[in-house]
Amino acid sequence: MRQRVAWSDSQSGAAPRTTTWRPLDGNAGHLEIMSRLSALELLQSVFGYPSFRGQQQAVVEHLAEGGDALVLMPTGGGKSLCYQIPALLRQGTGIVVSPLIALMQDQVDALREAGVAAAYLNSSLGAEAQREVERQLLAGELNLLYVAPERLLTSRFLGLLESIEVALFAIDEAHCVSQWGHDFRPEYRELVVLHQRFPQVPRIALTATADPRTREEIVERLALQEARRFVSSFDRPNIGYRVGLRHNAKRQLAEFLQGHQDESGIVYCLSRRKVDDTAAWLAESGVEALPYHAGLDAATRAKNQQRFLREDGVVMVATVAFGMGIDKPDVRFVAHLDLPRSIEGYYQETGRAGRDGLPAEAWMIYGLSDVVTMSQMIAQSESDDERKRVERQKLESLLAYAEATDCRRQLLLGAFGESHPGACGHCDNCVAPPKTWNATVPAQKALSAVYRTGQRFGSGHVIDVLRGEETERVLSLDHHRLSTFGIGADLDEKQWRSVFRQLLAAGLLEADAEGYGTLRLTAASRSVLNGGRQVKLREDARPERASRRRRDSKLVTSGKGSGGGSLGIEAYEQDLWDALRALRTQLAKQQGVPPYVVFHDATLLAMLRAMPANEDELAGVSGVGEAKLKRYGRDFLAVINATA
Ligand code: ADP
Ligand code: ZN
Repeated sequence: MRQRVAWSDSQSGAAPRTTTWRPLDGNAGHLEIMSRLSALELLQSVFGYPSFRGQQQAVVEHLAEGGDALVLMPTGGGKSLCYQIPALLRQGTGIVVSPLIALMQDQVDALREAGVAAAYLNSSLGAEAQREVERQLLAGELNLLYVAPERLLTSRFLGLLESIEVALFAIDEAHCVSQWGHDFRPEYRELVVLHQRFPQVPRIALTATADPRTREEIVERLALQEARRFVSSFDRPNIGYRVGLRHNAKRQLAEFLQGHQDESGIVYCLSRRKVDDTAAWLAESGVEALPYHAGLDAATRAKNQQRFLREDGVVMVATVAFGMGIDKPDVRFVAHLDLPRSIEGYYQETGRAGRDGLPAEAWMIYGLSDVVTMSQMIAQSESDDERKRVERQKLESLLAYAEATDCRRQLLLGAFGESHPGACGHCDNCVAPPKTWNATVPAQKALSAVYRTGQRFGSGHVIDVLRGEETERVLSLDHHRLSTFGIGADLDEKQWRSVFRQLLAAGLLEADAEGYGTLRLTAASRSVLNGGRQVKLREDARPERASRRRRDSKLVTSGKGSGGGSLGIEAYEQDLWDALRALRTQLAKQQGVPPYVVFHDATLLAMLRAMPANEDELAGVSGVGEAKLKRYGRDFLAVINATA
């Protein structure tokens, strides 16, 4: 029998904390008690949060009443609660399909900390442990079971599910059904069988991938045509965006890290060699930095990932091989030393910062050479022509983002079909709007030099021609006789490179599909050449200002205090902050879980500010649920009182 849930008190938003629920060791009685609480009571007593966020409540209610749902929420939006709470509200066990083994364990650890009867089944468990989980499942002792798709789809497991009561199916990372994404998992497409075999069980599919094509593919592949759609804004207001030109990567990175001392972060590089190089250099400079890429052996990779997850303040230097399924909430920055592949990729990677909602930074430096390298990578890949064309387009829109002079947030969200008024006040272009200059004439010169040299050369040679350099190549090709030879002597080489880079970004030039770095005119070039279109470029190319080019402006992050970090810890608070973190690390170690499973930074920060004097006050701190209050309350109060 399914239980109807009374929603009345979940509307008020401030119902008193319930005390009827007590975490017990998984048994049926415990489940019974849980299912009598309202959604808001569960949120407060189990998870310790005062109120729902965004669309969470609507999703929870819809699912609890038996409806199907498609949930699109950005990383850090709070997707997990959307199925965890309905699974507690409904009779039976919630089955969660997740492609990521490492993530399952973390989620299950966190749920158990909160007193929820959760378990997972995947290839990392021994036979004995698997049997025990299956026994619990059959005995109805589990609120939630996480399972890998290939396991779920076995006829044996589907048979097991038929003999129990299933509260709901949650399909996490649902974009894995899409062959267009980077995370394509063929098994995911077979999950449609859940609909066929368990038509009465509600299903919820969740993803942080925003693009509309993927969304439609999920609906179609998983037969979710009837599902209600919950689409959240993909804005990540706590992330500040900054993009700069690369002139001295190491010095720039070192300066950037000054603002993030002792904080966790990810530094993305394009190549494995650059990862190793950068990690070694950072380690020498005294930063806790570790490398991660597919060329390292599995044991080293696992060890480095584990340290990143379990220690405070580790910087992971990595290729894009790292990050999928990294659920660490307190990543304070994501830095890109090279241009990523696409805006989607960039948004996904930068989205790993600040899942806990506290201030975080996305920082990127890049150069013209990145465009050439990326074009080559696309050209040399094994993809078919159609795919290559899509990838080149993606690179171009990313470049346009990097070169933008307007609000970056507006551009990013626009790329996902979401409108934003701009002027977010939290990106470099909003904080310090770049000056632009009228570069129509240099642009005309550049385009015409590309044309006159036959659209067969890269920027280096064309710049030589513009500047009137009599290089061997120029002479052997007779390019010193061209009408464009020497017409651009007023700009130096660096300035010309900047012009070419920006013309590429604006789509007024294109790099060849074959990846040789050859430049060609585009359909849009003509309007510039015939004077019909003005070209505005960022000031960094303007001759008289070139030497005074603004360095990366300091981004004023909200909540930034006197301390060097993102969280704005004041000097007088530092001791208590360190003590709280040390206690958390110690407790986490004792239980073999990452520190954030004990308490998130957001919760520690709330403790630091609230200075609770007793258990009652501590219970009022966001993130302190009943199970954690009981388990850790005394220890944290002791630390707070000792410093107070
Ligand atoms: P996602 O899966 O969408 O990336 P999570 O479910 O991991 O996000 O949630 C992101 C963070 O937000 C977690 O630290 C989670 O505990 C926190 N969170 C989720 N919902 C709430 C809420 N209603 N109030 C406070 N914190 C929340
Ligand atoms: Zn902005």
